[in-house]
Amino acid sequence: MGRILSPGKFELWTGCMFSNKTIKMLARKAQINYSVYNSLLIGSGRDTRYAENESEINLLKSHPGSTLTYKEKIIRISDELPEKIIEYINEAKNKKIHAVFIDELQFFSGKTETSIGIVRVIEKLLKEMDMHVFGNGLNLDYRQNYFGQMKYLIDMADEVHYEYATCELCRNMEARYGFRKKPLEELVVAGGKDLYGVACGKCYEKYTYEGVLKKQNNS
Ligand SMILES: [Zn+2]
Repeated sequence: MGRILSPGKFELWTGCMFSNKTIKMLARKAQINYSVYNSLLIGSGRDTRYAENESEINLLKSHPGSTLTYKEKIIRISDELPEKIIEYINEAKNKKIHAVFIDELQFFSGKTETSIGIVRVIEKLLKEMDMHVFGNGLNLDYRQNYFGQMKYLIDMADEVHYEYATCELCRNMEARYGFRKKPLEELVVAGGKDLYGVACGKCYEKYTYEGVLKKQNNS
């Protein structure tokens, strides 16, 4: 019989937008909620996309129109200071935390002058605090470059679940690339279906602005 938690294990769900990474992670959290273990759900301070008002900022909600819906209490931590995750757990000393779930890992910073970075934070949670860490994040940005620290986090994970979405252009179920529907100057803009679409490899190359441009540059 497998154990529900393994201290020191890092499990990661990754893939493009709309691939249900978050809900798959939350399904694991639901199992733990019914066990003797305590867990926390942490998210980026940047990602308040689906909050309809101030009181909903501390909720993690599914996107409007999603067929799978959820609403979970979430602790929002500044992207630039991921060590606040450790501080938060240390402050909650009266309650032993066994597992941490981190949503949208791609938003958290790497090492900077003022921060040890998300990779080191997860290492500490695993090795020094004996946690089972679960996380999810977009592997690639819309130009197919690794998003934030995801490359290192994927390398580091003990178990990686790659998730796929339905291609918006041909409807096959192998979409793994995001693309932008409108040109924008900033690289990181959190948005929903109005701003981003997902495509399979063939459609990305054939029909999206970045895909066509990439092909031209490579030939
Ligand atoms: Zn397609």
